[in-house]
Amino acid sequence: MSLMQEFHGIPVSAGVVIGRVFRLDDAHVWVPRRTIPEDRVTHELERLRGAIEASLTELDGLRGQAEKDLGKEAAAIFAFHQGMLRDKTLIGPMNKRIEDEHVTAEYALQEQCNVVASMFAGMGDTAFSTKVDDVWDLNQRVMGHLVGEQRSSLDDLDYEAVVVAPDLTPSQAASFPPGRVLGFATDKGGPTSHTAIFARALGIPAAVGTGNLCEFAEECDEIIVDGERGAVILRPDAETLEHYREKKRHIEAVREALAETQTLEARTLDGERVQLMGNVELGMEAEQVVDQGGEGIGLFRTEFLWLTRNAEPTEDEQFAEFKAAVEACKGRPVTLRTYDLGADKYTQSRSHVPERNPFLGLRSIRYCLANPVMFKRHLRAIMRASAFGPIRIMFPLVTATEELRRAKMHLKDVMEDLAEEGVAYDPNVKVGMMVEVPAAAVMASSFAREVDFFSIGTNDLVQYTLAVDRTNEKVSGMYSAAHPAILKLIKDVVRVGRHRKVDVSVCGEAAGDPIFTMLLIGVGLRTLSVSPRRIPYLKKVIRSVDIPACERLARTVGSLDSEASVTAFLRDQAMKRFPEFVDGRAVDMERSESAKSAD
Ligand code: PEP
Ligand code: MG
Repeated sequence: MSLMQEFHGIPVSAGVVIGRVFRLDDAHVWVPRRTIPEDRVTHELERLRGAIEASLTELDGLRGQAEKDLGKEAAAIFAFHQGMLRDKTLIGPMNKRIEDEHVTAEYALQEQCNVVASMFAGMGDTAFSTKVDDVWDLNQRVMGHLVGEQRSSLDDLDYEAVVVAPDLTPSQAASFPPGRVLGFATDKGGPTSHTAIFARALGIPAAVGTGNLCEFAEECDEIIVDGERGAVILRPDAETLEHYREKKRHIEAVREALAETQTLEARTLDGERVQLMGNVELGMEAEQVVDQGGEGIGLFRTEFLWLTRNAEPTEDEQFAEFKAAVEACKGRPVTLRTYDLGADKYTQSRSHVPERNPFLGLRSIRYCLANPVMFKRHLRAIMRASAFGPIRIMFPLVTATEELRRAKMHLKDVMEDLAEEGVAYDPNVKVGMMVEVPAAAVMASSFAREVDFFSIGTNDLVQYTLAVDRTNEKVSGMYSAAHPAILKLIKDVVRVGRHRKVDVSVCGEAAGDPIFTMLLIGVGLRTLSVSPRRIPYLKKVIRSVDIPACERLARTVGSLDSEASVTAFLRDQAMKRFPEFVDGRAVDMERSESAKSAD
């Protein structure tokens, strides 16, 4: 039995989960050596046999197709691959490894392919050295089936699973069977990647950027993910287990105590109202926003509708989803952001043609403008839903005024079409844009002439202003909304909004982090849109502060010139005023304090 190991990642979704490892590998990465319990050996042998069989069938199809399209010679390559897969000298040692060393099918496959490839490479004859590629090609094919089979086996999990993976895409996370995956940890990833955001939507604790967890985590190992600190503990000892059980109980108790805020107003001590709204990825979360005491949806990431089904939803499917969200919000506003696809949110059909710099590529509003038929279908669904309640429409990633105008032209066309068809919609629908590209923040006064509202998306604003990829764990230390440049841009946009009478809100992840609440109120913001589960925490914070204190704090922050000093100051202030909400740190602190007083 291996010893306890601790890994430090980035906390992305709060809470603590104690469960067992479920490995979700990537067919394209090197698989580390992992062992399995003895009673899973037969299962593992069966998995390998199944993957080989599936590969043989697939090769049959490819061979037939190649023969038809390209002739016998081209088809021979597939026949050669089939021959290898039937060759006992390749497969036998794989099975033997699983039986003798109790390693996973993936590892056995890769290691044996490595042996054979090295043998071919060492023969010094070009005829053989080209076979090296064939071996790796084969490895990839069988690995793909192993990984695919592993994914579908998530459906019949019979234990409390914590998914451990090199990386996860938002659509992978979106395909987790509900209620079966209790948390996840990935070696890669950044704090505001959409996979991380989706974990918050699912309400499951998660840590990303753990570095080399995948190298050590073995199937069914006991594991703890502390989504408050980003810590991941493999094979915890009894004392650690007890510590985390206690921490979990404490977090649940704090959450329960916050339930009382549901019916209370988000109002400061001196009576100023702050509007708290919810960010949602799935329509069904609308109810949660209301349950948590939210005043509507400030950001509906509509693209998840597409990502969860891997195909473009029809106009009627979209309409049904938006209408349901509007109805669930019972008269509260619902802000539908048009598809923000691309970057880390590729649709299935685009995932095979990745761009060189996807965050700077054909994403979001650019992708919609380049696909006007699809965009209009989307706008029609939104406008049809606007007949059922107060919908606001928001365009993402707007960088240039022409872009905004083109998007509005499409909207106008759609409204005209609907009017002609006699279909009901709200002709006075509010139209807004995200301010998430520095160009939009700098030119806010030009954009203000064309929109009813701005929503500041700090997630992208940080990435583009600081030139730090939001999904890259290697630079996550530099990714921070507390950088003075970000604060300057936020202040500028708020000022423009005030002068031009354009509503301004913040919907990036910083809005949901209690250390920023006083600062955002202090610079004049009165609407925040956050992950629904954060609403009660923020309400509590807002009800414990007054406007002059927030403004004083904002002035002090304005005099600081580095991200480190701003973060230290904000954290310090938050620890003094509402320690229980600062990154869960205080939960540990309180726990040890109460343990001390109990002694
Ligand atoms: C943002 O960029 O801050 C934002 C809210 O949008 P998303 O996280 O979906 O990119
Ligand atoms: Mg964004």
